[in-house]
Amino acid sequence: MGSVHSKKKRQPSVIVIGAGMTGILMVIKLRNAGITDITVLEKKDRVGGTWRENTYPGVACDVPAHMYTYSFEPNPTWSNFFARGGEIQQYFEHVADKYDVNRSIRFNEAVTDARYKDGQWTVKTNQDSTYVADFVVCATGILHHPAFPDIGGLDEFEGDMFHTAQWNHDVKIGKGVKVGVIGTGSTAAQAIPELIKSGADVSVFQRTPQWILPLADFRVSQKMKRLLSKSPRLVSLHRKFSVFIMEHLFTKAVTGHFFQKKLLEYWCKLNLRFSIKNKALREKLRPNYQVGCKRVIVNTTFYKGIQKDNAHLITEQIDRITKNGIVTKDGTHHDMDVLVLSTGFNPFNFMRPMNLIGREELHIDRAWQDRIKAYRSMMLPNYPNFFLMLGPNTPIGNFSVIAMSEVQGDYVIKMIQKWQEEQFDEVEAKPEAVKEFNDYVKQGLKGTAWVGGCQSWYLDKDGDPILWPYTWKQWVKEMREPQMEHMHTKSLSTKESEKAA
Ligand code: NAP
Repeated sequence: MGSVHSKKKRQPSVIVIGAGMTGILMVIKLRNAGITDITVLEKKDRVGGTWRENTYPGVACDVPAHMYTYSFEPNPTWSNFFARGGEIQQYFEHVADKYDVNRSIRFNEAVTDARYKDGQWTVKTNQDSTYVADFVVCATGILHHPAFPDIGGLDEFEGDMFHTAQWNHDVKIGKGVKVGVIGTGSTAAQAIPELIKSGADVSVFQRTPQWILPLADFRVSQKMKRLLSKSPRLVSLHRKFSVFIMEHLFTKAVTGHFFQKKLLEYWCKLNLRFSIKNKALREKLRPNYQVGCKRVIVNTTFYKGIQKDNAHLITEQIDRITKNGIVTKDGTHHDMDVLVLSTGFNPFNFMRPMNLIGREELHIDRAWQDRIKAYRSMMLPNYPNFFLMLGPNTPIGNFSVIAMSEVQGDYVIKMIQKWQEEQFDEVEAKPEAVKEFNDYVKQGLKGTAWVGGCQSWYLDKDGDPILWPYTWKQWVKEMREPQMEHMHTKSLSTKESEKAA
Protein backbone atom coordinates (compact mmCIF):
# COMPACT_ATOMS: atom_id res chain seq x y z
CA MET A 1 0.00 0.00 0.00
CA GLY A 2 1.01 3.67 0.04
CA SER A 3 0.97 6.36 -2.61
CA VAL A 4 2.79 6.00 -5.85
CA HIS A 5 3.53 9.40 -7.37
CA SER A 6 3.72 9.61 -11.14
CA LYS A 7 4.17 12.65 -13.31
CA LYS A 8 0.58 12.73 -14.41
CA LYS A 9 -1.75 11.46 -11.74
CA ARG A 10 -0.77 10.03 -8.43
CA GLN A 11 -2.48 6.87 -7.27
CA PRO A 12 -4.10 6.94 -3.87
CA SER A 13 -4.54 4.03 -1.52
CA VAL A 14 -8.04 3.76 -0.10
CA ILE A 15 -9.39 1.75 2.81
CA VAL A 16 -13.10 1.06 2.73
CA ILE A 17 -14.59 -0.08 6.02
CA GLY A 18 -17.46 -2.50 5.53
CA ALA A 19 -18.51 -4.74 2.61
CA GLY A 20 -22.23 -4.10 2.65
CA MET A 21 -24.18 -2.34 -0.07
CA THR A 22 -22.03 0.82 0.14
CA GLY A 23 -18.67 -0.94 0.48
CA ILE A 24 -19.30 -3.03 -2.64
CA LEU A 25 -20.41 0.09 -4.49
CA MET A 26 -17.29 2.02 -3.48
CA VAL A 27 -14.96 -0.69 -4.81
CA ILE A 28 -16.77 -0.62 -8.16
CA LYS A 29 -16.79 3.17 -8.34
CA LEU A 30 -13.15 3.54 -7.31
CA ARG A 31 -12.01 0.98 -9.86
CA ASN A 32 -14.10 2.67 -12.57
CA ALA A 33 -12.22 5.86 -11.74
CA GLY A 34 -8.91 4.04 -12.26
CA ILE A 35 -8.15 3.75 -8.55
CA THR A 36 -7.01 0.24 -7.78
CA ASP A 37 -5.18 0.31 -4.46
CA ILE A 38 -8.27 -0.54 -2.43
CA THR A 39 -8.59 -2.59 0.73
CA VAL A 40 -11.99 -3.36 2.16
CA LEU A 41 -12.05 -4.44 5.79
CA GLU A 42 -15.14 -6.49 6.62
CA LYS A 43 -15.87 -7.78 10.12
CA LYS A 44 -17.80 -10.86 8.95
CA ASP A 45 -17.06 -13.64 6.47
CA ARG A 46 -19.47 -12.52 3.74
CA VAL A 47 -20.57 -9.37 1.98
CA GLY A 48 -24.10 -8.02 2.46
CA GLY A 49 -24.24 -5.94 5.65
CA THR A 50 -27.84 -5.41 6.76
CA TRP A 51 -29.16 -8.15 4.48
CA ARG A 52 -26.61 -10.67 5.72
CA GLU A 53 -27.48 -9.86 9.34
CA ASN A 54 -31.28 -9.58 9.18
CA THR A 55 -32.77 -12.99 8.45
CA TYR A 56 -35.96 -12.77 10.53
CA PRO A 57 -39.10 -14.34 9.00
CA GLY A 58 -40.76 -11.95 6.58
CA VAL A 59 -37.65 -9.79 6.13
CA ALA A 60 -38.11 -7.66 3.03
CA CYS A 61 -37.37 -4.23 1.70
CA ASP A 62 -40.21 -1.74 1.64
CA VAL A 63 -38.64 0.24 -1.18
CA PRO A 64 -39.72 -1.16 -4.60
CA ALA A 65 -37.22 -3.79 -5.76
CA HIS A 66 -36.27 -2.17 -9.06
CA MET A 67 -35.46 1.01 -7.17
CA TYR A 68 -33.50 -0.88 -4.52
CA THR A 69 -30.75 -1.91 -6.98
CA TYR A 70 -27.57 -0.27 -8.17
CA SER A 71 -28.36 1.95 -11.17
CA PHE A 72 -25.61 0.24 -13.17
CA GLU A 73 -26.75 -3.31 -12.31
CA PRO A 74 -30.49 -3.69 -12.81
CA ASN A 75 -32.05 -7.00 -11.90
CA PRO A 76 -34.93 -7.95 -14.20
CA THR A 77 -35.71 -11.11 -12.24
CA TRP A 78 -36.81 -9.81 -8.85
CA SER A 79 -39.47 -12.21 -7.59
CA ASN A 80 -41.62 -9.62 -5.84
CA PHE A 81 -42.49 -5.96 -6.16
CA PHE A 82 -40.84 -5.56 -2.73
CA ALA A 83 -37.80 -7.83 -2.68
CA ARG A 84 -37.33 -10.33 0.14
CA GLY A 85 -34.22 -10.14 2.30
CA GLY A 86 -32.69 -13.42 1.09
CA GLU A 87 -33.01 -12.38 -2.54
CA ILE A 88 -31.42 -8.98 -1.82
CA GLN A 89 -28.51 -10.74 -0.11
CA GLN A 90 -28.11 -12.95 -3.21
CA TYR A 91 -28.15 -9.83 -5.40
CA PHE A 92 -25.29 -8.23 -3.45
CA GLU A 93 -23.29 -11.47 -3.50
CA HIS A 94 -23.90 -11.70 -7.25
CA VAL A 95 -22.73 -8.11 -7.84
CA ALA A 96 -19.64 -8.65 -5.67
CA ASP A 97 -18.79 -11.77 -7.73
CA LYS A 98 -19.54 -10.21 -11.09
CA TYR A 99 -17.35 -7.17 -10.43
CA ASP A 100 -14.69 -9.26 -8.69
CA VAL A 101 -15.07 -7.12 -5.56
CA ASN A 102 -14.12 -9.94 -3.21
CA ARG A 103 -10.45 -9.84 -4.18
CA SER A 104 -10.20 -6.43 -2.49
CA ILE A 105 -11.87 -7.60 0.72
CA ARG A 106 -10.18 -8.85 3.88
CA PHE A 107 -12.95 -10.79 5.60
CA ASN A 108 -13.22 -11.37 9.36
CA GLU A 109 -11.29 -8.19 10.10
CA ALA A 110 -13.14 -5.72 12.29
CA VAL A 111 -11.57 -2.28 12.44
CA THR A 112 -10.71 -1.29 15.98
CA ASP A 113 -8.73 1.91 15.38
CA ALA A 114 -8.30 4.39 12.56
CA ARG A 115 -5.83 7.16 13.24
CA TYR A 116 -4.78 10.09 11.06
CA LYS A 117 -1.31 11.55 11.08
CA ASP A 118 0.74 13.50 8.59
CA GLY A 119 -1.26 12.74 5.49
CA GLN A 120 -1.98 9.09 6.19
CA TRP A 121 -4.50 6.91 7.93
CA THR A 122 -3.28 3.97 9.97
CA VAL A 123 -6.01 1.42 10.45
CA LYS A 124 -5.84 -1.49 12.88
CA THR A 125 -8.09 -4.52 13.07
CA ASN A 126 -9.01 -7.16 15.62
CA GLN A 127 -6.67 -9.56 13.79
CA ASP A 128 -3.70 -7.40 14.86
CA SER A 129 -3.24 -6.26 11.27
CA THR A 130 -2.24 -2.72 10.39
CA TYR A 131 -3.01 -0.98 7.13
CA VAL A 132 -1.90 2.43 5.93
CA ALA A 133 -3.76 4.49 3.34
CA ASP A 134 -4.28 7.98 1.96
CA PHE A 135 -8.06 7.86 2.32
CA VAL A 136 -10.61 6.12 4.52
CA VAL A 137 -14.18 5.61 3.37
CA CYS A 138 -16.40 4.49 6.19
CA ALA A 139 -19.18 2.33 4.73
CA THR A 140 -20.40 0.90 8.01
CA GLY A 141 -24.12 1.55 7.50
CA ILE A 142 -26.70 3.09 9.79
CA LEU A 143 -28.78 0.48 11.58
CA HIS A 144 -26.29 -2.19 12.57
CA HIS A 145 -26.16 -2.04 16.36
CA PRO A 146 -29.22 -3.81 17.81
CA ALA A 147 -30.84 -1.90 20.67
CA PHE A 148 -31.87 -4.01 23.64
CA PRO A 149 -34.72 -2.72 25.79
CA ASP A 150 -33.95 -1.46 29.24
CA ILE A 151 -36.56 -3.65 30.94
CA GLY A 152 -36.02 -5.18 34.36
CA GLY A 153 -35.52 -8.94 34.42
CA LEU A 154 -34.43 -9.25 30.78
CA ASP A 155 -31.50 -11.45 31.82
CA GLU A 156 -33.72 -13.69 33.94
CA PHE A 157 -35.79 -15.04 31.06
CA GLU A 158 -35.12 -18.77 30.77
CA GLY A 159 -36.80 -19.42 27.42
CA ASP A 160 -35.29 -18.57 24.04
CA MET A 161 -34.76 -14.88 23.54
CA PHE A 162 -33.18 -13.01 20.64
CA HIS A 163 -33.21 -9.70 18.78
CA THR A 164 -34.74 -9.69 15.29
CA ALA A 165 -31.33 -8.76 13.83
CA GLN A 166 -29.85 -11.89 15.45
CA TRP A 167 -32.63 -14.37 14.69
CA ASN A 168 -32.05 -17.82 16.13
CA HIS A 169 -33.23 -20.21 13.42
CA ASP A 170 -32.60 -23.21 15.67
CA VAL A 171 -35.60 -22.24 17.78
CA LYS A 172 -38.71 -23.98 16.46
CA ILE A 173 -41.72 -21.69 16.35
CA GLY A 174 -45.13 -23.17 15.57
CA LYS A 175 -48.32 -24.57 17.06
CA GLY A 176 -48.17 -24.88 20.82
CA VAL A 177 -45.34 -22.36 21.24
CA LYS A 178 -46.04 -19.12 23.09
CA VAL A 179 -44.14 -16.23 21.50
CA GLY A 180 -43.90 -12.68 22.82
CA VAL A 181 -42.78 -9.86 20.55
CA ILE A 182 -41.67 -6.53 22.00
CA GLY A 183 -41.94 -3.71 19.47
CA THR A 184 -44.18 -2.75 16.57
CA GLY A 185 -41.80 -0.97 14.15
CA SER A 186 -41.09 -1.78 10.48
CA THR A 187 -39.27 -4.98 11.43
CA ALA A 188 -42.00 -6.24 13.74
CA ALA A 189 -44.69 -5.49 11.16
CA GLN A 190 -42.94 -7.90 8.79
CA ALA A 191 -42.01 -10.59 11.32
CA ILE A 192 -45.22 -10.77 13.39
CA PRO A 193 -47.53 -11.97 10.56
CA GLU A 194 -45.07 -14.77 9.76
CA LEU A 195 -45.00 -15.87 13.42
CA ILE A 196 -48.79 -15.82 13.50
CA LYS A 197 -48.90 -17.83 10.26
CA SER A 198 -46.73 -20.52 11.89
CA GLY A 199 -49.61 -21.30 14.25
CA ALA A 200 -47.74 -20.13 17.36
CA ASP A 201 -49.63 -18.20 20.03
CA VAL A 202 -48.28 -14.68 19.50
CA SER A 203 -48.50 -11.80 22.00
CA VAL A 204 -47.46 -8.43 20.61
CA PHE A 205 -46.37 -5.87 23.20
CA GLN A 206 -47.06 -2.47 21.68
CA ARG A 207 -45.70 0.66 23.36
CA THR A 208 -46.69 3.06 20.57
CA PRO A 209 -48.99 2.33 17.61
CA GLN A 210 -47.74 3.03 14.09
CA TRP A 211 -49.26 4.37 10.90
CA ILE A 212 -49.25 1.76 8.15
CA LEU A 213 -49.43 2.39 4.41
CA PRO A 214 -50.78 -0.61 2.47
CA LEU A 215 -48.74 -0.50 -0.74
CA ALA A 216 -49.66 -3.75 -2.43
CA ASP A 217 -46.92 -6.28 -2.95
CA PHE A 218 -47.18 -8.89 -5.70
CA ARG A 219 -45.20 -11.79 -7.03
CA VAL A 220 -43.71 -11.23 -10.45
CA SER A 221 -44.76 -13.93 -12.92
CA GLN A 222 -42.21 -15.89 -14.97
CA LYS A 223 -43.69 -14.29 -18.07
CA MET A 224 -43.10 -10.81 -16.67
CA LYS A 225 -39.53 -11.69 -15.63
CA ARG A 226 -38.82 -12.92 -19.17
CA LEU A 227 -40.28 -9.72 -20.60
CA LEU A 228 -38.21 -7.54 -18.24
CA SER A 229 -35.08 -9.58 -19.02
CA LYS A 230 -35.57 -8.87 -22.72
CA SER A 231 -36.31 -5.20 -22.23
CA PRO A 232 -33.85 -3.12 -20.19
CA ARG A 233 -35.95 -0.08 -21.08
CA LEU A 234 -38.93 -1.55 -19.29
CA VAL A 235 -36.81 -2.20 -16.17
CA SER A 236 -35.53 1.35 -16.34
CA LEU A 237 -39.07 2.68 -16.73
CA HIS A 238 -40.19 0.66 -13.73
CA ARG A 239 -37.32 2.11 -11.68
CA LYS A 240 -38.03 5.67 -12.80
CA PHE A 241 -41.69 5.28 -11.90
CA SER A 242 -40.81 4.03 -8.39
CA VAL A 243 -38.34 6.88 -7.88
CA PHE A 244 -40.99 9.34 -9.01
CA ILE A 245 -43.57 7.97 -6.55
CA MET A 246 -41.15 7.83 -3.62
CA GLU A 247 -39.80 11.29 -4.34
CA HIS A 248 -43.05 13.06 -5.08
CA LEU A 249 -45.25 11.24 -2.59
CA PHE A 250 -43.24 9.99 0.40
CA THR A 251 -40.41 12.46 0.60
CA LYS A 252 -42.66 15.44 -0.01
CA ALA A 253 -45.38 14.17 2.34
CA VAL A 254 -43.00 14.12 5.30
CA THR A 255 -41.15 17.31 4.43
CA GLY A 256 -44.09 19.67 4.62
CA HIS A 257 -45.80 19.56 1.21
CA PHE A 258 -49.50 19.99 1.94
CA PHE A 259 -51.15 17.88 -0.77
CA GLN A 260 -48.84 14.87 -0.37
CA LYS A 261 -49.08 15.10 3.40
CA LYS A 262 -52.88 14.98 3.29
CA LEU A 263 -52.87 12.14 0.77
CA LEU A 264 -50.56 10.02 2.91
CA GLU A 265 -52.57 10.85 6.01
CA TYR A 266 -55.92 9.80 4.49
CA TRP A 267 -54.44 6.68 2.96
CA CYS A 268 -53.08 5.49 6.32
CA LYS A 269 -56.25 6.43 8.19
CA LEU A 270 -58.49 4.66 5.67
CA ASN A 271 -56.22 1.64 5.88
CA LEU A 272 -56.74 1.46 9.63
CA ARG A 273 -60.48 2.11 9.31
CA PHE A 274 -61.18 -0.56 6.71
CA SER A 275 -58.57 -3.18 7.65
CA ILE A 276 -59.43 -3.58 11.32
CA LYS A 277 -62.98 -4.80 11.86
CA ASN A 278 -63.11 -4.66 15.66
CA LYS A 279 -63.53 -1.11 16.90
CA ALA A 280 -61.72 -1.63 20.20
CA LEU A 281 -58.74 -3.21 18.45
CA ARG A 282 -58.79 -0.40 15.88
CA GLU A 283 -58.55 2.22 18.63
CA LYS A 284 -55.65 0.38 20.26
CA LEU A 285 -53.84 0.52 16.93
CA ARG A 286 -54.55 4.22 16.29
CA PRO A 287 -51.48 6.46 16.70
CA ASN A 288 -51.96 9.84 18.36
CA TYR A 289 -49.29 11.65 16.33
CA GLN A 290 -49.21 12.82 12.75
CA VAL A 291 -48.61 10.44 9.88
CA GLY A 292 -44.92 10.34 8.92
CA CYS A 293 -43.63 11.42 12.33
CA LYS A 294 -42.24 7.93 12.83
CA ARG A 295 -41.09 6.19 9.67
CA VAL A 296 -44.24 5.16 7.81
CA ILE A 297 -44.54 1.37 7.76
CA VAL A 298 -45.25 -0.03 4.32
CA ASN A 299 -47.07 -3.27 4.91
CA THR A 300 -50.18 -5.25 4.01
CA THR A 301 -49.82 -8.22 6.36
CA PHE A 302 -49.68 -6.82 9.91
CA TYR A 303 -53.33 -5.75 10.23
CA LYS A 304 -54.49 -9.08 8.78
CA GLY A 305 -52.26 -11.07 11.13
CA ILE A 306 -53.08 -9.22 14.31
CA GLN A 307 -56.82 -10.06 13.85
CA LYS A 308 -56.21 -13.83 13.86
CA ASP A 309 -57.32 -15.90 16.83
CA ASN A 310 -53.77 -16.85 17.80
CA ALA A 311 -52.64 -13.19 17.95
CA HIS A 312 -52.98 -10.86 20.95
CA LEU A 313 -52.22 -7.15 20.95
CA ILE A 314 -51.15 -6.07 24.41
CA THR A 315 -51.13 -2.34 25.01
CA GLU A 316 -50.73 -2.48 28.78
CA GLN A 317 -47.12 -1.40 29.33
CA ILE A 318 -44.43 -3.87 30.33
CA ASP A 319 -43.45 -3.85 33.98
CA ARG A 320 -40.78 -6.56 34.02
CA ILE A 321 -39.62 -9.78 32.50
CA THR A 322 -39.64 -12.98 34.54
CA LYS A 323 -38.01 -16.36 33.96
CA ASN A 324 -41.03 -17.52 31.96
CA GLY A 325 -42.78 -14.45 30.63
CA ILE A 326 -43.69 -10.79 30.88
CA VAL A 327 -45.57 -8.98 33.64
CA THR A 328 -47.50 -5.93 32.48
CA LYS A 329 -48.26 -2.88 34.65
CA ASP A 330 -51.75 -4.21 35.43
CA GLY A 331 -50.10 -7.18 37.17
CA THR A 332 -50.96 -9.77 34.50
CA HIS A 333 -48.33 -12.42 33.87
CA HIS A 334 -48.08 -13.41 30.19
CA ASP A 335 -46.46 -16.84 29.87
CA MET A 336 -43.87 -17.10 27.14
CA ASP A 337 -41.63 -19.79 25.63
CA VAL A 338 -39.86 -17.47 23.20
CA LEU A 339 -39.23 -13.75 23.48
CA VAL A 340 -38.46 -11.77 20.32
CA LEU A 341 -36.95 -8.31 20.76
CA SER A 342 -37.97 -6.20 17.79
CA THR A 343 -36.69 -3.12 19.52
CA GLY A 344 -34.72 -1.46 16.75
CA PHE A 345 -31.19 -0.17 16.59
CA ASN A 346 -28.84 2.43 18.02
CA PRO A 347 -28.72 4.73 15.00
CA PHE A 348 -26.17 7.20 16.38
CA ASN A 349 -23.16 4.92 16.52
CA PHE A 350 -22.29 5.22 12.84
CA MET A 351 -18.64 4.10 12.62
CA ARG A 352 -18.34 3.48 16.35
CA PRO A 353 -17.32 1.56 18.49
CA MET A 354 -14.09 1.89 16.47
CA ASN A 355 -11.64 4.45 17.81
CA LEU A 356 -11.64 7.04 15.06
CA ILE A 357 -8.85 9.47 15.87
CA GLY A 358 -8.27 12.56 13.81
CA ARG A 359 -5.80 15.39 13.91
CA GLU A 360 -4.26 16.10 17.30
CA GLU A 361 -5.55 12.87 18.83
CA LEU A 362 -9.18 13.97 18.53
CA HIS A 363 -11.34 10.93 19.31
CA ILE A 364 -14.70 10.78 17.53
CA ASP A 365 -16.50 10.46 20.90
CA ARG A 366 -15.05 13.85 21.83
CA ALA A 367 -15.67 15.42 18.41
CA TRP A 368 -19.31 14.35 18.67
CA GLN A 369 -19.81 14.80 22.39
CA ASP A 370 -22.19 17.77 22.01
CA ARG A 371 -23.83 16.81 18.77
CA ILE A 372 -23.45 14.25 16.01
CA LYS A 373 -22.83 16.27 12.92
CA ALA A 374 -20.95 16.24 9.66
CA TYR A 375 -20.58 18.45 6.63
CA ARG A 376 -23.12 17.20 4.07
CA SER A 377 -23.31 14.10 6.29
CA MET A 378 -19.89 12.97 5.07
CA MET A 379 -16.95 15.07 6.16
CA LEU A 380 -15.66 16.15 9.54
CA PRO A 381 -13.26 18.90 10.59
CA ASN A 382 -10.02 17.44 11.94
CA TYR A 383 -10.57 14.20 10.03
CA PRO A 384 -8.78 14.85 6.74
CA ASN A 385 -9.25 12.52 3.79
CA PHE A 386 -12.07 10.73 5.57
CA PHE A 387 -15.60 10.16 4.28
CA LEU A 388 -18.55 8.82 6.23
CA MET A 389 -21.14 7.27 3.94
CA LEU A 390 -24.84 7.60 4.89
CA GLY A 391 -23.92 9.81 7.82
CA PRO A 392 -26.19 12.16 9.78
CA ASN A 393 -28.73 14.08 7.65
CA THR A 394 -28.53 11.85 4.63
CA PRO A 395 -32.08 11.71 3.18
CA ILE A 396 -32.82 8.33 4.72
CA GLY A 397 -36.47 7.50 5.50
CA ASN A 398 -38.65 5.85 2.89
CA PHE A 399 -36.17 6.22 0.03
CA SER A 400 -33.53 3.95 -1.48
CA VAL A 401 -30.27 4.13 0.46
CA ILE A 402 -28.57 2.69 -2.64
CA ALA A 403 -29.41 5.82 -4.60
CA MET A 404 -27.99 7.90 -1.72
CA SER A 405 -24.75 5.93 -1.60
CA GLU A 406 -24.32 6.29 -5.35
CA VAL A 407 -24.58 10.07 -5.11
CA GLN A 408 -22.16 10.16 -2.17
CA GLY A 409 -19.79 7.75 -3.92
CA ASP A 410 -19.50 10.12 -6.89
CA TYR A 411 -18.77 12.98 -4.51
CA VAL A 412 -15.96 10.99 -2.84
CA ILE A 413 -14.44 10.11 -6.22
CA LYS A 414 -14.48 13.78 -7.29
CA MET A 415 -12.69 14.74 -4.11
CA ILE A 416 -10.08 12.01 -4.52
CA GLN A 417 -9.54 13.07 -8.12
CA LYS A 418 -8.62 16.56 -6.89
CA TRP A 419 -6.04 14.91 -4.64
CA GLN A 420 -4.77 12.95 -7.67
CA GLU A 421 -4.36 16.21 -9.54
CA GLU A 422 -2.30 17.41 -6.57
CA GLN A 423 -4.66 20.23 -5.73
CA PHE A 424 -4.03 19.24 -2.10
CA ASP A 425 -2.72 16.46 0.12
CA GLU A 426 -5.28 16.90 2.85
CA VAL A 427 -8.91 17.89 2.63
CA GLU A 428 -11.41 18.32 5.45
CA ALA A 429 -14.56 20.34 6.02
CA LYS A 430 -14.17 23.73 7.69
CA PRO A 431 -15.90 23.95 11.08
CA GLU A 432 -17.88 26.97 9.90
CA ALA A 433 -19.10 24.98 6.87
CA VAL A 434 -20.37 22.25 9.21
CA LYS A 435 -22.17 24.86 11.28
CA GLU A 436 -23.65 26.51 8.21
CA PHE A 437 -24.84 23.14 6.92
CA ASN A 438 -26.36 22.19 10.27
CA ASP A 439 -28.14 25.55 10.61
CA TYR A 440 -29.52 25.11 7.11
CA VAL A 441 -30.76 21.60 7.91
CA LYS A 442 -32.21 22.68 11.24
CA GLN A 443 -34.16 25.45 9.54
CA GLY A 444 -35.74 22.94 7.16
CA LEU A 445 -36.57 20.44 9.89
CA LYS A 446 -39.10 22.80 11.44
CA GLY A 447 -41.68 22.09 8.76
CA THR A 448 -41.32 18.31 8.70
CA ALA A 449 -43.52 15.55 10.07
CA TRP A 450 -40.60 14.16 12.10
CA VAL A 451 -41.03 16.85 14.72
CA GLY A 452 -44.75 16.08 14.85
CA GLY A 453 -44.98 14.97 18.47
CA CYS A 454 -43.62 11.44 18.55
CA GLN A 455 -40.54 9.61 19.74
CA SER A 456 -38.56 7.87 17.01
CA TRP A 457 -35.07 6.66 16.19
CA TYR A 458 -34.76 9.67 13.89
CA LEU A 459 -34.34 12.03 16.85
CA ASP A 460 -31.00 12.86 18.45
CA LYS A 461 -30.62 13.75 22.12
CA ASP A 462 -31.72 17.35 21.40
CA GLY A 463 -34.83 16.08 19.65
CA ASP A 464 -33.54 17.00 16.18
CA PRO A 465 -34.12 14.44 13.42
CA ILE A 466 -30.92 13.21 11.74
CA LEU A 467 -32.67 13.36 8.38
CA TRP A 468 -32.60 15.59 5.31
CA PRO A 469 -35.59 17.94 5.37
CA TYR A 470 -35.55 19.16 1.76
CA THR A 471 -36.29 17.38 -1.50
CA TRP A 472 -34.28 14.52 -2.92
CA LYS A 473 -33.56 16.67 -6.02
CA GLN A 474 -32.17 19.43 -3.82
CA TRP A 475 -29.87 16.99 -2.04
CA VAL A 476 -28.61 15.54 -5.32
CA LYS A 477 -28.00 19.07 -6.62
CA GLU A 478 -26.02 20.04 -3.55
CA MET A 479 -23.93 16.88 -3.68
CA ARG A 480 -23.11 17.21 -7.37
CA GLU A 481 -19.84 19.14 -7.05
CA PRO A 482 -17.64 19.52 -3.99
CA GLN A 483 -17.71 23.18 -2.97
CA MET A 484 -14.07 23.77 -2.24
CA GLU A 485 -14.77 27.04 -0.46
CA HIS A 486 -16.22 24.86 2.32
CA MET A 487 -13.03 22.85 2.56
CA HIS A 488 -9.79 23.32 4.34
CA THR A 489 -7.00 21.97 2.14
CA LYS A 490 -3.35 21.60 2.74
CA SER A 491 -0.31 20.63 0.76
CA LEU A 492 2.07 18.65 2.92
CA SER A 493 5.17 19.08 0.79
CA THR A 494 4.90 22.84 1.24
CA LYS A 495 3.34 23.07 4.68
CA GLU A 496 3.75 26.80 4.86
CA SER A 497 1.54 27.19 1.82
CA GLU A 498 -1.46 26.04 3.78
CA LYS A 499 -4.42 27.35 1.94
CA ALA A 500 -8.03 27.69 2.88
CA ALA A 501 -9.65 27.60 -0.52
P1 NAP B 1 -37.91 0.74 15.35
O1 NAP B 1 -38.67 1.34 14.24
O2 NAP B 1 -36.97 1.59 16.11
O3 NAP B 1 -38.97 0.08 16.32
C1 NAP B 1 -38.61 -0.40 17.58
C2 NAP B 1 -39.87 -0.85 18.30
O4 NAP B 1 -39.51 -1.34 19.57
C3 NAP B 1 -40.85 0.29 18.53
O5 NAP B 1 -42.14 -0.20 18.41
C4 NAP B 1 -40.53 0.71 19.97
O6 NAP B 1 -41.59 1.33 20.63
C5 NAP B 1 -40.26 -0.66 20.57
N1 NAP B 1 -39.48 -0.58 21.79
C6 NAP B 1 -38.18 -0.20 21.91
N2 NAP B 1 -37.79 -0.26 23.19
C7 NAP B 1 -38.88 -0.69 23.90
C8 NAP B 1 -39.11 -0.93 25.27
N3 NAP B 1 -38.16 -0.75 26.18
N4 NAP B 1 -40.34 -1.35 25.64
C9 NAP B 1 -41.32 -1.52 24.72
N5 NAP B 1 -41.16 -1.31 23.40
C10 NAP B 1 -39.95 -0.89 23.00
O7 NAP B 1 -37.05 -0.53 14.86
P2 NAP B 1 -37.28 -1.49 13.61
O8 NAP B 1 -38.68 -1.94 13.52
O9 NAP B 1 -36.23 -2.52 13.66
O10 NAP B 1 -37.03 -0.55 12.39
C11 NAP B 1 -35.91 0.32 12.37
C12 NAP B 1 -35.69 0.82 11.00
O11 NAP B 1 -35.13 -0.23 10.21
C13 NAP B 1 -36.91 1.24 10.22
O12 NAP B 1 -37.39 2.50 10.57
C14 NAP B 1 -36.37 1.19 8.84
O13 NAP B 1 -35.61 2.33 8.55
C15 NAP B 1 -35.47 -0.03 8.90
N6 NAP B 1 -36.20 -1.17 8.38
C16 NAP B 1 -36.49 -1.15 7.09
C17 NAP B 1 -37.18 -2.16 6.56
C18 NAP B 1 -37.46 -2.09 5.12
O14 NAP B 1 -38.35 -2.74 4.69
N7 NAP B 1 -36.73 -1.33 4.32
C19 NAP B 1 -37.62 -3.23 7.32
C20 NAP B 1 -37.30 -3.24 8.66
C21 NAP B 1 -36.58 -2.20 9.18
P3 NAP B 1 -41.78 2.94 20.51
O15 NAP B 1 -42.35 3.17 19.16
O16 NAP B 1 -42.67 3.27 21.63
O17 NAP B 1 -40.40 3.53 20.67
